[in-house]
Amino acid sequence: MAAAQLPSRLPSVGTTIFTVMSRLASEHGAINLSQGFPDFSPSSSLLERVTHHMQNGANQYPPMAGVAPLREAIAEKVERLYGARYDVESEVTVTAGATQALFTAIAACVRPGDEVIVFAPVYDSYLPAITLQGGTAKVINLAPPAFRPDWQEVAAAVNARTRMIILNTPHNPTGTVWTAEDMAALARLVRDTDIVLLGDEVYEHIFYTGRHESLARTAELRERSFVVSSFGKTYHITGWKIAYCLAPAALTAEFRKVHQFNVFTVHHPSQLGLADFMRADPGFADGLASFYRAKRDFFRQQLEGSRFELLPCDGTYFQLARYDRINDMPDTEFARWLTIEKGVAVIPVSAFMPDGTDHGLVRFCFAKNEATLSAAGEKLRAV
Ligand code: PMP
Ligand code: GLN
Repeated sequence: MAAAQLPSRLPSVGTTIFTVMSRLASEHGAINLSQGFPDFSPSSSLLERVTHHMQNGANQYPPMAGVAPLREAIAEKVERLYGARYDVESEVTVTAGATQALFTAIAACVRPGDEVIVFAPVYDSYLPAITLQGGTAKVINLAPPAFRPDWQEVAAAVNARTRMIILNTPHNPTGTVWTAEDMAALARLVRDTDIVLLGDEVYEHIFYTGRHESLARTAELRERSFVVSSFGKTYHITGWKIAYCLAPAALTAEFRKVHQFNVFTVHHPSQLGLADFMRADPGFADGLASFYRAKRDFFRQQLEGSRFELLPCDGTYFQLARYDRINDMPDTEFARWLTIEKGVAVIPVSAFMPDGTDHGLVRFCFAKNEATLSAAGEKLRAV
């Protein structure tokens, strides 16, 4: 029987680069510094709390928006860090990873014909989500090595069809961190418009300069924003797929209309375990920046004397590097070659460029044990 022919809703989309490179790394036994995930364990007390709740009955549907203790712990953390009090009942929603939160916020807002401003390099899930809603992405290309937004260019991209602006700070893959001036420029830009902001703040605790400029910090931005963070990044549990979305009640109401029919709710024992852990150790997240700063510095040291040229890294657990002293391959080819021939897997930065621009840069993930980083360093110095 002939298979049904389905006209694709996403004709230009293939398998994500993260899956492609992790698979290649495993096929060739390469050290996997491509897809962003830690190679060390989460806290044993977090594991103990989740196990406890699994063994003590938390095995059926939790409330749609997330369990109250976790939403309370999130609201308290956000108030402590950013001085914003989100209402636990109507403004905090626990999601199945940041990916689902971002998709849900986009689905709740974007209609056919709407435009959404994004900054490239752009995280790979945004554009397909916009396209599936019938929206169009307006891509602002940021230039290396600084990758800073030019606010005049952003202003020129805004028009009556602009529904949303998506920002990601600290930024994957460039490691840039938006400043208070950026947030002020953003606020000026959207003032007197109906533009909604979607803040991808999954690396909110991982910054090495200044502070994290959350959209939650000022009432003016908060009022029109979805703010997304991920427990995966903060507690070394990317495989649990658990995150949250903050937004004023009216936006959250629309968000939940989609959320309830998209996933309905999220793994119950993980939510209770995270709530216990956050309460027992509220400082854990505050220590993340110095934890990853040490890894960044260690990895950068490993690459001293190599032919890679390192770009600045002010946040996230990613390091960009230029490789033009090694060869002139396109970045996707270079990433495959490095994985297969040299034993270290990386992500080509053109995968984050909707127009395919190749800056000759690759991304390393340094969320790894020192043994992994030094083994990778040895291989990379020999390239
Ligand atoms: N946004 C960015 C910028 C990310 O780097 C990631 C994951 N690495 C996500 C969203 C998705 O997070 P999650 O795994 O919680 O879905
Ligand atoms: N966000 C992770 C990265 O940038 C990957 C997540 C995924 O594989 N979808 O590497």
